[in-house]
Amino acid sequence: MTSSRELAEALKSGDRRALAKAITLIESTRAADREAARELLRELPEPSTASLRIGVTGVPGAGKSTLIDALGRAAIDAGRRVAVLAVDPTSRQSGGSVLGDKTRMSRLAAQGAAFVRPSPTLGVLGGTAARTREVISLCEAAGYDAIFVETVGVGQSEEHVASMVDCVLLVLLAGAGDEISAMKRGILEAADVIAFNKADGERAAFVENDAAAMRASLTLGHERSVPSVRIVSALEGTGVADLWTVLADRHRDASASGALHERRARQRLEWFETALAETLLEVFAQRPGAESAHRAAAISVTEGSASPSEAARRLVEGWLREKSG
Ligand code: GDP
Repeated sequence: MTSSRELAEALKSGDRRALAKAITLIESTRAADREAARELLRELPEPSTASLRIGVTGVPGAGKSTLIDALGRAAIDAGRRVAVLAVDPTSRQSGGSVLGDKTRMSRLAAQGAAFVRPSPTLGVLGGTAARTREVISLCEAAGYDAIFVETVGVGQSEEHVASMVDCVLLVLLAGAGDEISAMKRGILEAADVIAFNKADGERAAFVENDAAAMRASLTLGHERSVPSVRIVSALEGTGVADLWTVLADRHRDASASGALHERRARQRLEWFETALAETLLEVFAQRPGAESAHRAAAISVTEGSASPSEAARRLVEGWLREKSG
């Protein structure tokens, strides 16, 4: 049995097995594991803004995995060490993963400077942003300084991933009108960089127009910095090195202007608020009778005899009275 300190040391020395083990520990919901995970996190160094956290989103089939496979290799060529994680905010409801069961990023995974969370079913992190942020800090402590967080573009997931990364890369299908549906679903709002993918074969002819139209529409009425639009073929590798340069340059500029610092500070505050709520729940859940009181309240809510907010308030007030009584 390795202690959290030993695990942290192994992790910091860049041991991949230690990293995989640490991620499993963070994802575990067992109370003893949560305690060990907290100890582990305490051993980690402060995160550095030199590390670049990129969220990659887009509809299934847009080519996210293929693009990360190519973009990750471009990042390695630029001297980075690359980690790839996947989050699927829908997996908790559906029990399955929209990210699918596929051989993930085999060319990138074969590189010594890359860590790709292996099995997709095990590797897809559940919905909570707090856990994902913890896993990102593990990867950074293990020496990875380009972290890709892949998620499916299904609506809320962009906002979700935007809250844990420095930059959101939206992957659109070239020549398929994908940008119009993305616009309708409000996905563009969260995007910092947009890549029209699959610009090869017959599609290549249409995509220049799409990209130009997109650039024109983005410059209108945008309050924050205008997203960069690039054209790539993940399969053939065209435009991929350029896309990496765009991401790295934006990150460097955001770092210099203080925008990165601000964004991370906002995320840390949000993290704290979530941690506070989680901790309160954990503390209350450990109290005697908490589970049955919770269940009874849940029943009254489903039956409609109490309103959800009223039931929650009564439950907490009951717990507080017990404490003082
Ligand atoms: P994801 O669901 O967004 O992760 O998409 P995948 O990376 O799994 O790609 C979906 C399909 O599109 C696969 O069959 C890929 O080989 C193909 N694909 C990905 N990128 C490109 C590209 O640049 N050009 C072409 N022609 N096909 C691509």
